[in-house]
Amino acid sequence: MDPASGLDAIRTVAIRDGRIIEIAEGPLAGRDTLDASGLVVAPGFIDLHQHAHDSAAYRVEVLDGTTTALELEGGTADVDGWYAERVGRSLIHHGVSVGHEPVRMVVMHDSGTTTATGPAKRQAATEEELAAIVARIDSGLARGAVAVGMLIEFTPAATPWEVVGVFGAAARHDAAVHVHMRVLDEPLWFLEMEEVIGAAAATGAAAHIVHLQSSLGEDTPRGLQLIRGARDRGLDITTEIYPYTASMSPIEAADNDDWEQWPDRRFARMEWALTGERLTRESFGRYRAIGGMLVEYNNPEEVVAAAVADSLPMISSDGILRDGIGHPRVAGTFARVLGHYVREVEALSLMEALRKITIEPARRLERRVPAMAAKGRVQVGADADLVLFDPATVLDRATYREPTLPPTGIPHVIVAGVVVVRDGTIQPEVHPGRPIRAPLDSGVTHARP
Ligand SMILES: [Zn+2]
Repeated sequence: MDPASGLDAIRTVAIRDGRIIEIAEGPLAGRDTLDASGLVVAPGFIDLHQHAHDSAAYRVEVLDGTTTALELEGGTADVDGWYAERVGRSLIHHGVSVGHEPVRMVVMHDSGTTTATGPAKRQAATEEELAAIVARIDSGLARGAVAVGMLIEFTPAATPWEVVGVFGAAARHDAAVHVHMRVLDEPLWFLEMEEVIGAAAATGAAAHIVHLQSSLGEDTPRGLQLIRGARDRGLDITTEIYPYTASMSPIEAADNDDWEQWPDRRFARMEWALTGERLTRESFGRYRAIGGMLVEYNNPEEVVAAAVADSLPMISSDGILRDGIGHPRVAGTFARVLGHYVREVEALSLMEALRKITIEPARRLERRVPAMAAKGRVQVGADADLVLFDPATVLDRATYREPTLPPTGIPHVIVAGVVVVRDGTIQPEVHPGRPIRAPLDSGVTHARP
C-alpha cells in the first residue's frame, strides 16, 4: 500500500543498497526474501514528534513500525552535539529541531533539567536576550536543524513579540515552527491559536501545531476549523494529534503553576505515572515538590476518534520515556491507529491512516530536508524504509503501567534496506539509522514565494 500514489495491490518489492529498485507484479529472485503473504507492506512510519531518542527507546519505537523518529517540538540548543551522540549507532533514522525553550534556558541561565523552572520560565527576555535567542536559533538552523521547536506553554513569560522573532528566524531558513501552544482557558484559547496563525502570516514561516487534541480538548474541532481557514487563505499550517485520551507531562512544569486554584475534580482525573495512584489536592502538592511525570485524562474518546478520522491532522506519538516511566504512546501510537481506530472502530480507512503517518509527515519536511522526498513512499527510487504488518491483528498493547509493551501484528521492519525486525525480533548489531538533517548553510536567506 502506497498512500502517495494510491497503489493497493499484490506486488514483489526489490531492494538494493537501501533503495527500492523494482516493484513487480510477479516474483523476483533475491539474496534474502521476506514472505509478505497476508501482510501489508507500507512505507516506514515517520514520527514528527518523538522525545525518546536513546538506543533503548529506538528499540521500543521500531517495534511500532517507526523507521524515522524526529524530536521537533522540544528540540535542542546544541544541534551538532545531538546528532554526534547518535551517529553510527542508531536503529532508526533520527532528527531534531533547534528548540526555543532549551535555547532560552541557555541564554537566560535557567538551571531546570527537563523543562524551564527559573528565569526562562518566569522572565520576559531583555532586548539583548531576545537578540541572543534569535541568533542561536538562526545558527542551529544553519547547522541543519530540521525545524524550530517551541513549547510556549512552558515558557509563559515569552512575549508574543518573542514568538514573532523566533518565527522570523524559521522563515529565513524555510523551516517550519513546531509549536506546543500557550494554554489559555476558554474563551481565550482562540488567542493562542491566533498567536500561531498570526506569527506564521506575519513572517512567512510555516507552522505545525503539535498534539492539537491535547492542547484544545473538546475544542479540537474549532481548532481544526481555524487551521482549515488559514490554509484556505494560503498559509502553510499543519497539525498533528496522538490517539490517546490522556496526556503526560512533568508535574513541575509551568502549566501547573496555578494548581492551588484548581477545583478538586481536576485532581481526580490525574494519576502519578510511577504508581498509577489517582491524585488529590494533597498528593498533587506533595509530588509537585519532588517532580516527576503526571498523567491526566483530559479528553473524551469521541473527541480523539473524531480527530483521528478528520483528514487534516497527521498522527505523531509525542512519545516520552524516562527510566522506564512513560506514556504508552511511545510504544503503541501507530499500532493503535491501525488496530483500534481503523479495524475496531472503523473511524477511517487503512490507506487514509497510512497517509497520515507516512507521506504527509514526509511532505511536511521535504522543502527544508530534501532527503525526505525519498521517504514515506513505496515507489521505485524511494528509500527502503518499510513496515510489514498484519491488518487483521495489528494492535497496541502498551499501558500507563507498562508503557514499553510492544504491539502485536508488526512482524517485520526494514530501515534503509536492512531488516531490523524479523519475525517480531530486533536483529543484533544492526545500526542502519541515518541522521535526518537539513543541508548545512551559512545563514543564507530564502526568498519566499
Ligand atoms: Zn507538547
